Amino acid sequence: MKLDAKTPSGPLSSKWSRYKEECNLVNPANKRKFSVIVVGTGLAGASAAASLGELGYNVTCFCYQDSSRRAHSIAAQGGINAAKNYPNDGDSVQRLFNDTIKGGDYRAREANVYRLAEVSNAIIDQSVAQGVPFAREYGGLLANRSFGGAQVSRTFYARGQTGQQLLIGAYQALSRQVAKGKVKVHARTEMLDLVLVNGEAKGIVVRDMVSGKISSHAADAVVLATGGYGNAFYLSTMARGCNAMAIWRSHKRGAGFANPCYTQIHPTCIPVSGEYQSKLTLMSESLRNDGRVWVPKAKGDKRAPGQIPESERDYYLETRYPSFGNLAPRDVTSRAAKLVCDEGRGVGPSGLGVYLDFEESIGRLGRKTIEERYGNLFEMYERITGEDAYEAPMRIFPAIHYTMGGLWVDYNLMSTIPGLFVLGEANFSDHGANRLGASALMQGLADGYFVLPYTIANYFGSSRKFVPGTDAAEFKAAEQAVSEHLKRLLSIQGSRTPTSFHRELGKLLWENCGMARSEQSLKTAIKKIAVIREEFWKNLKVTGGAGELNQTLEHANRVSDYMELAELICQDALERKESCGGHFRVEYQTEDHEAKRDDENFSHVAVWEYKGKDKAPVRHIEPLQYEVVTMSQRSYK
Ligand SMILES: Cc1cc2nc3c(=O)[nH]c(=O)nc-3n(C[C@H](O)[C@H](O)[C@H](O)COP(=O)(O)OP(=O)(O)OC[C@H]3O[C@@H](n4cnc5c(N)ncnc54)[C@H](O)[C@@H]3O)c2cc1C
Repeated sequence: MKLDAKTPSGPLSSKWSRYKEECNLVNPANKRKFSVIVVGTGLAGASAAASLGELGYNVTCFCYQDSSRRAHSIAAQGGINAAKNYPNDGDSVQRLFNDTIKGGDYRAREANVYRLAEVSNAIIDQSVAQGVPFAREYGGLLANRSFGGAQVSRTFYARGQTGQQLLIGAYQALSRQVAKGKVKVHARTEMLDLVLVNGEAKGIVVRDMVSGKISSHAADAVVLATGGYGNAFYLSTMARGCNAMAIWRSHKRGAGFANPCYTQIHPTCIPVSGEYQSKLTLMSESLRNDGRVWVPKAKGDKRAPGQIPESERDYYLETRYPSFGNLAPRDVTSRAAKLVCDEGRGVGPSGLGVYLDFEESIGRLGRKTIEERYGNLFEMYERITGEDAYEAPMRIFPAIHYTMGGLWVDYNLMSTIPGLFVLGEANFSDHGANRLGASALMQGLADGYFVLPYTIANYFGSSRKFVPGTDAAEFKAAEQAVSEHLKRLLSIQGSRTPTSFHRELGKLLWENCGMARSEQSLKTAIKKIAVIREEFWKNLKVTGGAGELNQTLEHANRVSDYMELAELICQDALERKESCGGHFRVEYQTEDHEAKRDDENFSHVAVWEYKGKDKAPVRHIEPLQYEVVTMSQRSYK
């Protein structure tokens, strides 16, 4: 596998401008001769499909929800970053770039991150022009708030519903193209495989989730914008439907998988309440603008929070990280919560929780202001826990939230398979070992609105135009393979549901490759995953048939991918003998329990190549060379 990042030469700050000036173009009359498949209609997919349609390409778009407007992006709460510097507090493209590189613990590619910071402002302009109702200040300017890992306020927001409002904007743009006939959307249709012809991505095999019909679609290029794989851990803040199928199956067709062990653990989620819970709920990071995190100073203090006097509370983020306080980045904040809970100072029935307290800010700003800023989040919290967070602090605990790992892409956002582009959370590109809050929406929309339209033209301008017929042997072989896989899942007729296997696998991953990992825990997990996988293929029970609506079959199919992906996650974590960002190997930590990197040996992206069933995958590396940034021990103190 050859890893050429294709980063343009020249100074960092002018790479993207030069790329745009020099890249191949497709003339307007020729654009309509090219076809593109876009899988995914979240912020990355919808913005890409709408932009490509607007440019004149013929786009076919797929999602598994019943409407493209229901993609997981709709759940995003807190906001989207951009370097507008409206509050006049010292922000700039360079500063957003620096924060993102440092936030990712110096494990991201400089050129991609700089481009992201550079196009961030255009995203806000685009969204405002679409009518996205961002919060505004009294004077009419767009309002900003702060997110973790930054000392400026650069996060644009629409209450706690930013993802929903941005997605409505992108969906409108997409719908316009649907009406013009440039984009065709297939909802409730799941991609089950990628098809390569002569080594290039030329199509996909899908299953109609209502009729069960398997069919193929061909195009000049394929774009995956299929989101993250955090649900491999079973319990996560992600939508229940999020899954790894598109990227995992593409990986098995030859796309390199980068940094699979980089998963983000978000510090402010509602704690797990029981064994049979199927989902975790995020309380947005934006709450840490006004909420103060604390635990009792004394171990095992079971008093109600209101009965614990100030002098007996430990506002541990404020004391440990005075310059960032409650807005330390997610990985750092999550580990700090784990530390106090490990010491026996956690709160709530399980002891796995810390307080997020608004008493001081309600006193300072008034309840109405807090309600205006976070009302929907407080309501959500009350519906789930039955507790009123205006009266008593929220209880929160870290949970799986986002995956920084994903398919490897070069500067063009193209994977190691020619013609296969990967956008948004599905790729690995911009967040290194830890994503800063409000940067995922920025990346998804940057990729779709502003990067892909150039890079796909560059590809079309340099490749031979060729769309195979879906009756080609490659499509027929892929259709047969997916049908056999489904048949196999249905034929086992054992005694355990896909959910029971998924829950067991996820718990194993969380316990051994979650907030803390060690050589021992990872080796144990790898062994146990093999055992669970073996049982899965002997004792799975899937009811119903393949030629009908069958959600159990859909779930089993996704879990069959996790059975393989989970092993790669652990293997990647085992090989990375350092701690960085969300990847915390307990053997590699500083005296005060912070992540300890090994820049000499691990300043690289690890990219895994699939070698076939029962064969060990091969680990390649893309060295990370920092021309502008000086790597240092990350400090938020
Ligand atoms: C609760 C929550 C709150 C968040 N809040 C924020 C925030 O405030 N700010 C921020 O920056 N980030 C936030 N994030 C992260 C952010 O929401 C996601 O990273 C981002 O929305 C991902 O967008 P995407 O377009 O890459 O993928 P998604 O929105 O996940 O979309 C994936 C699309 O791919 C389709 N798809 C997937 N697989 C297949 C398949 N096999 N076949 C067909 N279609 C398929 C789906 O149907 C869907 O349309 C939050 C995440 C969560 C979980």
